[in-house]
Formats: sequence, C-alpha cells, structure tokens
Amino acid sequence: MTSFFPVSQPSIGDKEIAYVSDAVRSGWVSSLGRYIEDFERQFAAFCGTRFALTTSNGTTAIHLALVALGIKAGDEVIVPDLTFIATANAVAYTGATPVMVDIDADTLCISPAAAKRAITPRTRAIMPVHLYGHPADMEAINAIAKDHGLVVIEDAAEAHGAECHGKRVGSLGRCGVFSFYGNKVITSGEGGMITTDDELLYLTAKRLRDHAMSPTKRYWHEEIGYNYRMTNLQAALGVAQLERIDEFMTRRRDIMDWYRAGLGHRSDVRLNRDAPWARNAYWMVCMERPGMDDESRQQFMKNLRARGIDSRPYFYPASDMPMYPNADTPQTHGISHSGINLPSYVDLGREDVQHICRQTEMALEETFAR
Ligand SMILES: *Cc1c(COP(=O)(O)O)cnc(C)c1O
Repeated sequence: MTSFFPVSQPSIGDKEIAYVSDAVRSGWVSSLGRYIEDFERQFAAFCGTRFALTTSNGTTAIHLALVALGIKAGDEVIVPDLTFIATANAVAYTGATPVMVDIDADTLCISPAAAKRAITPRTRAIMPVHLYGHPADMEAINAIAKDHGLVVIEDAAEAHGAECHGKRVGSLGRCGVFSFYGNKVITSGEGGMITTDDELLYLTAKRLRDHAMSPTKRYWHEEIGYNYRMTNLQAALGVAQLERIDEFMTRRRDIMDWYRAGLGHRSDVRLNRDAPWARNAYWMVCMERPGMDDESRQQFMKNLRARGIDSRPYFYPASDMPMYPNADTPQTHGISHSGINLPSYVDLGREDVQHICRQTEMALEETFAR
C-alpha cells in the first residue's frame, strides 16, 4: 500500500500509451487527425448530443461557447458563487459581467430560486455548474430560462456522465462544456469540449475556434477568431480514456460507497448528498464539518497530510476574489469554509479507502477534540 494518497491522479494504462504513440507516429501531431474526429464523435454519443467540438481546455470551451452565443460587453451571465474560478473568468473574457448567486446547500450547485432573483433586463444567460460531479437542478433552471428568454450553458467540467432524470449532462442546456484536465473524470492532458444539438452554434464555434477562417476562402477572415484547437495527441489520450469511462464511473460509485462505510456513521461530518433525481459522477469526495472555519480547516488538512492523506479545500466564493464585486450569498459563504475533498481517483482500492477513512477519523480527533 502506498503511504501517500494524493487527492487526484489520472489512470493511465496500456491503451492510453498505445493510442498516443500511434498518434505521434502518424505524424498528425497538431489539430487534424483521426483521434480528433473519433473523440468528438464518441463524446457526442456519450452525452447524447448531435455535436461535440474539441477545444484546447475547459476554459476556452466556455469562452468559445459564450462568444458563439453572442454574449458580449453589457450582458450579464448568472453563475454560482461556489465554483472553480474559470466559470466566472470566461464570462469576464467576453466583456460581460458574471453575476454570482447562491447555491443550494445539498447539491452544492446553483440555487434556481437565487438565479431567478438575479435576473435583470441585461441578463442573457445562466451557467449552472455541476459541482464536484453532482448535476445542478436543470429542470428548474431550464424552466426559469424559458420564462425569461435566457440561454443555458452547462459547465459540466467536473461531471462527465452525471445525469438529471436519466439524461446525461451536456445535453440538458443549449450547450454543455467539459474539461479534460489531468484531475478530471477523464483526461486528455489539457483539453475541453462543447456539446450541443444546435447545428448553427456548433458551426459558429467551430469557425471561431480556427481564427474564424472562411470555410470557402482560405486565409480570409471576416471577424476576430481564436486558436482554441485541441491536438490529435491530446485527443488520442482522450479517446483511450473515453473507452474506459464506464469502468471509471462504476469505480467512482464504489469509492463513494467505501467512504460512506468508513465515515458515514459520524455525526460531526457530512459526505456528498445526492438529490433523488440526480446521478452523481462523484468527481470529488466531499467532506464537510459544519462549524469548521478557514483556520481550523488549515490545521485539519495539515494533520491529514502528516498522516499521508492529501486533501484540498472547497472552492472559495468567486465573489470574494478581489477582481469581482462582493455578493450576498450566505449558503456559499457558510459552506465554502467547512468542506474539503478527500482522495478521489479511480485507482483507489477498498483497502486504500478504509485506510484513508481511519486516518481521517484520527485527524478529526486530533484537530477538533476539546
Ligand atoms: C476545471 C474546470 C474548468 C476549466 O477547465 P480547464 O480545462 O482547467 O480550463 C471550468 N469549470 C469548472 C467548474 C472546472 O472545474
């Protein structure tokens, strides 16, 4: 048994090495090649959408989707306050204003009621985030968006394979965006994807991804586009991972069950909570200790680390960052400091998780015993 457990590490096997080697040998090392086509086709099938478009990373996927949807300076886009900062930053890149709203304490995802309250005449879109693998309440979000004529973009960067009412994320809004960073559910090294059923959106995003080059006149550009392409090398890794995603998804459920068996009996901590309509991708094992603050969390994480267990704090509220205005988001502010993520990668075995849980219990006693 290893003596140090990181929060995250990719599972790289023979298939990954074979596909990436094949891509390198083929000479198609930039953004043309068969793995790009395979990755897009297979990922669209996985999500149940007509189209999927690879991008250089998850952040560029969000930015590209927003630009392709016509989001621009003067617009407002509603985002949850508890998220990785990329969600808000990608909105800011367009010149639009990210409007941070509160979360639902159980799903940790955007509160539909809070999103509704934040709508103004300038609101153009809502971007729910399926945080730590739990899907946002898309039924409620879509109903609000429909009432107010807003576009819905799913930030599914952390939730490949998660479902609402039996439908996969990425297929539930106008478009979905995914990340394939090394710690995500599947990885391509760096990488991203936009999924959609909307052909015009797909074609617009595809054109903008390649400097908005005219499809009929080479090196002619009618507007300012981007180079947000993925390489065939990255896609080769992505295809190998996608071919293993069922195995990964099953293993993540097992890991969560083992954590529940090890820590679920404790009244002082709470693990991931699942809405009845949701299928969680369990990207991260979430452990909250109500009452924990930033300082005691620091000590707790230090004690865990001394026991060979890596952990990471929940995201800080995006609205607490100096570049964004403060937001009145009591749930986000209450929960953000009270949670950590524990080791959550698919190569963990049952005994590893049992060991982590025992060490976590001891670190809890050490840190919080009165
Ligand atoms: C990882 C992540 C992103 C950005 O993805 P990158 O590939 O790192 O650019 C966006 N949103 C959320 C919620 C993420 O977790």
